Amino acid sequence: MASRMLKFTELDRSMPEKRDAKKRARDFGEIYADYATEAAEAQASRCSQCGVPFCQQGCPLTNNIPDWLKLVSENRLEEAYQVSSATNNMPEICGRICPQDRLCEGICTIEQSGHGTVTIGSIERFITDNAWEEGWVTPIKPPRERKESAGIIGAGPGGLAAAEQLRRKGYKVTVYDRYDRGGGLLIYGIPGFKLEKHIVERRIKRLEDSGVKFKFNTSIGGKLKLSDLRDKHDTILIATGVYKARDLMVPGSGHESVHAALDYLTTSNRKGLGDEVPRFDDGTHDARDKNVVVIGGGDTAMDCVRTAVRQGAKSVTCLYRRDRANMPGSQREVANAEEEGVVFEWLAAPEAILDTKAGKLKAVRAARMKLGAPDPSGRQSPEKTGETFDVKADMVIKALGFDPEELPELFGEPALTVNRWGAIKVDFATLETSIPNVFAAGDIVRGASLVVWAIKDGRDAAEEMHKRMKQMSRADAATAPV
Ligand code: FAD
Ligand code: SF4
Ligand code: SF4
Repeated sequence: MASRMLKFTELDRSMPEKRDAKKRARDFGEIYADYATEAAEAQASRCSQCGVPFCQQGCPLTNNIPDWLKLVSENRLEEAYQVSSATNNMPEICGRICPQDRLCEGICTIEQSGHGTVTIGSIERFITDNAWEEGWVTPIKPPRERKESAGIIGAGPGGLAAAEQLRRKGYKVTVYDRYDRGGGLLIYGIPGFKLEKHIVERRIKRLEDSGVKFKFNTSIGGKLKLSDLRDKHDTILIATGVYKARDLMVPGSGHESVHAALDYLTTSNRKGLGDEVPRFDDGTHDARDKNVVVIGGGDTAMDCVRTAVRQGAKSVTCLYRRDRANMPGSQREVANAEEEGVVFEWLAAPEAILDTKAGKLKAVRAARMKLGAPDPSGRQSPEKTGETFDVKADMVIKALGFDPEELPELFGEPALTVNRWGAIKVDFATLETSIPNVFAAGDIVRGASLVVWAIKDGRDAAEEMHKRMKQMSRADAATAPV
């Protein structure tokens, strides 16, 4: 039979259809449509089945990409799902929100030979969305139940991936989260136009149906201390993410119309989930008819500008102190934002927030920057040119990044060691913290990072927790009275 693969010379790269910018800017639905099965099969057949698949090396989870592409091209979709889900706990989520241009697709070999990369992310998403539709994604049934238990702090992607891996092995798993829903930034940070919420909710429900217990509205560090969890569980995973917003340090930044990005995005996501949200209803976090200025150049800033567009802002401007090529956010998201009407002021840093005599927010004064000498990391530092300009503003959103909270203090555990940025220090071979049997994963170890890295850490930590609990079980058996 002729090979169904290597079609990249005769078939161009084609992403699933993107909704028209004017139409999509009016709602919070995802902007890319689903692949039809035939389109997914055709696009998968473009892969050249490289002997050394660079795409796999570019994926933090080392997904078996060529294998599942081949299976899709042959319409063996259930097998493709089995292969894909063996290395990734949320393939349909990564397929939607990984910055593929910097990961798997960024080093796909056929792009190096002048053809568009294989659309790996969209096909990965298709495989598991299709599996949910077909009923192939079922609750976990561990081959045997074990008596040991794991406590996981944080129901973000890191905590959820670990919970799934441990439950598969039959451990009792309880996930504690201070929010009222699971998903972490997947539910309250990332907007619906990148990731619709039902996609996250069905993952949580599946874990509940698999026997994982969730304790929401439960903040560790308040009444319940880390030591209480250590008494209750054999191993603990800290996967609490990073939530301390970096502040804007310019005159006027304390104005009541200057908002932290995550507060703004959480309000918008809660509104979309149907919650009562007074901060939105009273207009505080609603951009309708306002001139909005967002400060920052990362993914969070991109999500803020595009949320403001959808809320009906009069104008949306993004200020970033470096140029387009040096911004940390995904280029794909910048292009999407531009299509939706966002204006980017590159090489612009805020100098002051200006208000009227009556105290109403008026404008952001920005300094025009240029790129100077590289800093120790090799990145060119922005320098002031001496020129300033004002951007009209009724609402300012600061999206300058996040740092870890002071966890040793919060958890009442001075023995928990952190680095100078406040991230938890772990033994990188085992992800164990300075406290025995307490492990850590995701942003709280790496600093603000990506969903796919949190999943990878959660899986690795679960494997180490499993090894530790097996040792405990053996030790118990050896000392049990005969
Ligand atoms: P989180 O997702 O932050 O989850 C941590 C959980 O711990 C939360 O539910 C929190 O409530 C809980 N928690 C914290 N402290 C406590 C406590 N004391 N007690 C109990 N529970 C606690 N990444 C991508 O790959 N693609 C993107 O497009 C993308 N967009 C992003 C957009 C925004 C606006 C933001 C902020 C981030 C984005 N990221 C993106 C990054 C990504 O969301 C994170 O890297 C990822 O969610 C980290 O996972 P985590 O499990 O470590 O932590
Ligand atoms: Fe690419 Fe992310 Fe999927 Fe890995 S998990 S194959 S990096 S989209
Ligand atoms: Fe296929 Fe590209 Fe991966 Fe090669 S690098 S196996 S062409 S997806």
